[in-house]
Amino acid sequence: MTLARLTPGQVRMMRLIRQHQSQEIADVESDLPTPEDYPRYALMNSYLRRLKDYTAEIEAGEKLGIADFDEFQKRLKELQDLRSWIYEPISPFIDRERGKMIGNVFVEVGGYRYDQAYERIEKSRTVLAKSGAPLSDNRVRVVRAFKALLTMKIPNYPRLAEDFCVCGKVHDHRCADRLRKQIDKLKSVLGELETPLSA
Ligand SMILES: [Zn+2]
Repeated sequence: MTLARLTPGQVRMMRLIRQHQSQEIADVESDLPTPEDYPRYALMNSYLRRLKDYTAEIEAGEKLGIADFDEFQKRLKELQDLRSWIYEPISPFIDRERGKMIGNVFVEVGGYRYDQAYERIEKSRTVLAKSGAPLSDNRVRVVRAFKALLTMKIPNYPRLAEDFCVCGKVHDHRCADRLRKQIDKLKSVLGELETPLSA
């Protein structure tokens, strides 16, 4: 842990991210399912709790003008990782609200003029919108597959692959294995969520 005095640019960036997170908290809260909806509820509830804790920490860092910036970025990455099991992957450059936030960071921190930042984001948006998000990495789909397995709607991995594999070919044991690995990863994430963060 290395605390350092934040530059004014970093403080502004933290404020923008915190404002964005406050909106995200409201969105997740309004979208929260009942606790019976496992594992979605467990994922969302943990995400929400961490998001709230972290937003409060950012606010404290802003006020003091001091923070561990490496830790700050590490925590943001962890939050994004957890989020990827809950919502479809979206690129900040495709989603307009997120694009606006990134644009503000370009202006506030990167010293860009507003029209330059806007142009840069529009350019990235066009490129990324064409390429699309890789479907094979879609963790929301893995959560749905796991739920089908848990509720015994679909009793085994080969049958699961028929419904949830997106390879686009005839599904075989490799598809079933891949899905099993993805579900194992989800199980380990869920196991970690149940462990308290600090003793
Ligand atoms: Zn397949």
